[in-house]
Amino acid sequence: MERYELIIVGAGPVGLAAGIEAKRAGLEFLILEAGTICQSLVEYPIGMRFYSPADELAIGGYPFPTPHDEKPTRELALNYYRKVASAECLPIRTYERVERIERVADGFLLQTIRLPHQRRGQYHAQCVLVCTGVWGTPRRLSVEGAELPHVLLRYDEPLRFWRKRVLIVGSGNSAGEAAIRLADADAYVWLAVEPPTLEQCKFRPFILREVLLRVEEGCIRPLTEARILRIQPDCVDLRCAQGVESLPVDFVLTLIGLQPDRSLLEPLGVPFDEDGKPLHDPETYETPVTGLFVAGALSRDSFIYIARERVRNAIAAIAHRVRAC
Ligand SMILES: Cc1cc2nc3c(=O)[nH]c(=O)nc-3n(C[C@H](O)[C@H](O)[C@H](O)COP(=O)(O)OP(=O)(O)OC[C@H]3O[C@@H](n4cnc5c(N)ncnc54)[C@H](O)[C@@H]3O)c2cc1C
Repeated sequence: MERYELIIVGAGPVGLAAGIEAKRAGLEFLILEAGTICQSLVEYPIGMRFYSPADELAIGGYPFPTPHDEKPTRELALNYYRKVASAECLPIRTYERVERIERVADGFLLQTIRLPHQRRGQYHAQCVLVCTGVWGTPRRLSVEGAELPHVLLRYDEPLRFWRKRVLIVGSGNSAGEAAIRLADADAYVWLAVEPPTLEQCKFRPFILREVLLRVEEGCIRPLTEARILRIQPDCVDLRCAQGVESLPVDFVLTLIGLQPDRSLLEPLGVPFDEDGKPLHDPETYETPVTGLFVAGALSRDSFIYIARERVRNAIAAIAHRVRAC
């Protein structure tokens, strides 16, 4: 069995930043990744633009130039992180999902499953840093019909919805942005939000502006104070400020938030707060399980520029722990 001082679970932007710091700290480490590097970003909508400027997405001190200083698209960000991971020669095993972490006397045992052959792997680590993000577990509506195949939890290419009737459910940026992009792809869009007005949604100002513009043009039809009652194969029953409606739809796109996957941490006894985030020391990012750390979106740091700084503290604490052994 392979043994390491540190195993990092997840090679998203924060797992990569952690790897760079671990390398600089001289740790013997390995990164295990369920998909390819930055798998979450790979699954973001095609052409999606980040809200943050490039310098806030950069990691490891590598500059991230973009044409005309524009905010980066998904494609530019993927290209950037690929180059950084390659330049650093980070030891990453892709398509190897960590299925289980067990506490043993001198550290942790990690059980993995490798694609494409579903072979099982086992590793030992003195410390584990879990950077698995939240992208993999979108929230579902808890109504009848929420599991039907035309109810989608994410989308990739807006053109898939060309001239289709789509009900988008959600009051956050992802829902607002999807409404804009699908309307621009000539879909017939309803946007069902909880608040009484679009202005009260959690949209960034530029998203609100673009949504309101399309509402005025009749390309997005808003349904406020909306509550989905039931989803049927060809229509959605809902209550909203306009009354009770039965909307004929081809697709329902529910973008109502993401939640952390608890399956690795909960069996180890890590407690979660009311927002579903694992409890951890705010300085070192160590959970109440000694030697088990969390970072990135999983830990509550949902902006990369914050997480990349704080992961340094976690790696410093890990290096200190390993050297003390
Ligand atoms: C639409 C959208 C726009 C955003 N815009 C911005 C922005 O403008 N600025 C900003 O700072 N942030 C933005 N974010 C948030 C940002 O993308 C995340 O904070 C960032 O990706 C978090 O990085 P991470 O490494 O913690 O998690 P992730 O990027 O989610 O990476 C987690 C990795 O762990 C892997 N993994 C999961 N489970 C396992 C397992 N069991 N075993 C092995 N590997 C596993 C996944 O495959 C994935 O590669 C945005 C997010 C979304 C959804």
